[in-house]
Amino acid sequence: MSIAKVEPLLTTRNVSGPFDYRLPEAMSEVEVGSVLVVPFGRRRVVGVVVGLADRSDLPQDRLAEPLEALEAGVPPELVGLGRWVGEEYCSTTSRGLGLVLPPGVGTGAEARRVRPLVELEVEATEKGLRTISGGGRLGLRQRAVLRALAAGPKLARQLAASAGSDRATLRRLEARGLVETREVERRRRHRSPGVGAVREGVELTADQRAGLDAVLAALPDEGKASSTRSFLLHGVTGSGKTEIYLEAARATLARGRGAIVLVPEIALTPQTMDRFRRRFGDSVALLHSRMPAGARYDEWRRLRSGEARICVGPRSVVFAPVVDPGLIVIDEEHDSSYKQESDPRYDAREVARRRAADVGAVLVCGTATPRPESWHELERLELPSRVDGRRLPPVEIVDMRGGIRGPLHPTTREAFNEVAREGGKAILLINRRGWSTHLTCRSCGHAWECPHCDVSLVLHRDGGLRCHHCGHAETKPRSCPECSSVTIARVGSGTQRVEAELAERLAPLEIFRLDSDSAASRGHAEVLSRFESARSGVLVGTQMVAKGHDFPDVTLSVILDADAALRLPDFRSEERTFSLITQLAGRSGRGAAGGRVLVQALATGAPSIRHAAMHDSAGFLAQELERRRALRYPPFSHLIEIALAGTDEARVESSAETMRELVADRISADDELLGPAPLFRLRGKHRRRLLLKSGRRHETVAAVRDAVATTVRDRALRELAISVDVDPQ
Ligand code: ADP
Ligand code: ZN
Ligand code: ZN
Repeated sequence: MSIAKVEPLLTTRNVSGPFDYRLPEAMSEVEVGSVLVVPFGRRRVVGVVVGLADRSDLPQDRLAEPLEALEAGVPPELVGLGRWVGEEYCSTTSRGLGLVLPPGVGTGAEARRVRPLVELEVEATEKGLRTISGGGRLGLRQRAVLRALAAGPKLARQLAASAGSDRATLRRLEARGLVETREVERRRRHRSPGVGAVREGVELTADQRAGLDAVLAALPDEGKASSTRSFLLHGVTGSGKTEIYLEAARATLARGRGAIVLVPEIALTPQTMDRFRRRFGDSVALLHSRMPAGARYDEWRRLRSGEARICVGPRSVVFAPVVDPGLIVIDEEHDSSYKQESDPRYDAREVARRRAADVGAVLVCGTATPRPESWHELERLELPSRVDGRRLPPVEIVDMRGGIRGPLHPTTREAFNEVAREGGKAILLINRRGWSTHLTCRSCGHAWECPHCDVSLVLHRDGGLRCHHCGHAETKPRSCPECSSVTIARVGSGTQRVEAELAERLAPLEIFRLDSDSAASRGHAEVLSRFESARSGVLVGTQMVAKGHDFPDVTLSVILDADAALRLPDFRSEERTFSLITQLAGRSGRGAAGGRVLVQALATGAPSIRHAAMHDSAGFLAQELERRRALRYPPFSHLIEIALAGTDEARVESSAETMRELVADRISADDELLGPAPLFRLRGKHRRRLLLKSGRRHETVAAVRDAVATTVRDRALRELAISVDVDPQ
């Protein structure tokens, strides 16, 4: 008897498999990774086979049979990875497995399923070909069909268009033995430019060569396990990192292995995808959530079958079914989009490390602004200069203390005037959208806040007040609800206000705005390409302007309120500030005109700002690592955050205390448990947070998982939302 151990893909936390199912003769091909539809209680659910056995501990008559096996199964390697994610990120096995499923296989009974697209292909037989040349008796349509087929097989769809045939015509021809038909699978393509593989020959620089050689030396041959090597490829934008990824991928393919290339948000990184496409043509599969389900499914299957050997895409492609991956690249490894912010809250960089270790692949993490974790842990490869030999632009820190009126310092205003006079391009980054960050009453100090969240409402250009956390919207007040005064001050500036101010000051110079509000109506790509093709203008936007794109003709880059993040109580603030300034500086001044970078800040002496101004990554990271060591932050510990949320504040408070005790009982003496500390109220929910710092990730995660499982069983805690975030960002 064959038994399949099946993990049903349920969303609840309190059922854990796997469960045994008896495999009927017809399902003898089921293996680990097969996706089945199984009866579960009174429901039908999708499940993944995680093991096979000859016998079950359950009596025969208690064992059910699966109802169906789906066409596409998951590679066994990914079954292991999915289970690991479910466990390591304090989620569930089924949610972890949900990450590795073929696209379109939903979980639960209503599983929306995608199937291969099958079409009818028609080919003329010998007899059919003789009939047209020999002038046999044929109807008008039949003759047209056979003529069309003289050049080779065609799809029924094409014949309908060109020869006006219908199903009946084809059936009659087939009955007479003049044509044969068969079903073929058609690949659904997504915006396929239809490019072939083009080799853009570049001669690598000495630094690139050295980096590539190190990676190649670590690449294992097909089927050979080896100890994994992980590299940090540190180089500014334009230093030739992508060229190394491309060459490393080529070498990996030559050794018979596949490659995975992770890029940050899709909207901001089409170039990397295009370059892989151009170089490797159809061997590259693209996978991302904005593709239609059919195209995604077909790309997935091309990878699964080994027809496509390279997969490029955002964080989720760390789970792509690339056969025998020998190389995993993480481009812009500092980017926070690699962390998934919903359950399972995995970090694709950690998952990539795990997968690389599992399969003996080389990991290459590239960036201009390494995370302290990577700087500390990975083997470094340096690309110290730009390929074009240009120097990085000088960075000037502009001190905003001392009552500067308006968002722009006189120095900054003068720099923009110069751009307007001389006709160049500039980028301005301000990491806040909207018009004003908040409103206050000048008479009594009343501040307008969101009724559901403890945050200020942001004034937008259209006159609406909006909460950027929950979407609550209301109209701009005419008077103060507390004192009826009509003098209401608009405080702070966002992208819209800066856009308007620049438009007025620099007219007729064109201003382009890029933030999530503008992107909602026009799309990122469109704004960026309009700016790119304009002769001159200013691009104003949130951090999106510092990502992914290079504009060779930008001569001025400005960042406003560069130290805004430093005012937040977050141990990554310094790292983020350094990264933002460096990324922005790296994207400008690449053309012949050179460039200038202005950084407006109040805390002008902050280490992140000073080091970024000197383009000194090594100095910044050394200092930042010392600080982290002293405070015991990653990479010197693992962080686990437990958040509780509920509508009744007293209840949330007391539950947080209970949770603290449950966790404290289970962790080791070396682990540090902080909190509960309040987080701001969000969407009407009061929140508390516990933070764990631990040196033993796996054990501590297990302890937390156990504590959470206990609370799930506790009635008093049941109505609370509890979330666990391992490696929080
Ligand atoms: P990064 O990924 O670090 O931003 P890229 O690999 O994109 O750098 O290189 C920047 C530009 O320089 C690209 O247009 C690329 O085609 C070109 N380039 C890279 N390496 C070389 C080289 N060795 N010789 C000439 N051009 C190169
Ligand atoms: Zn008032
Ligand atoms: Zn709100």
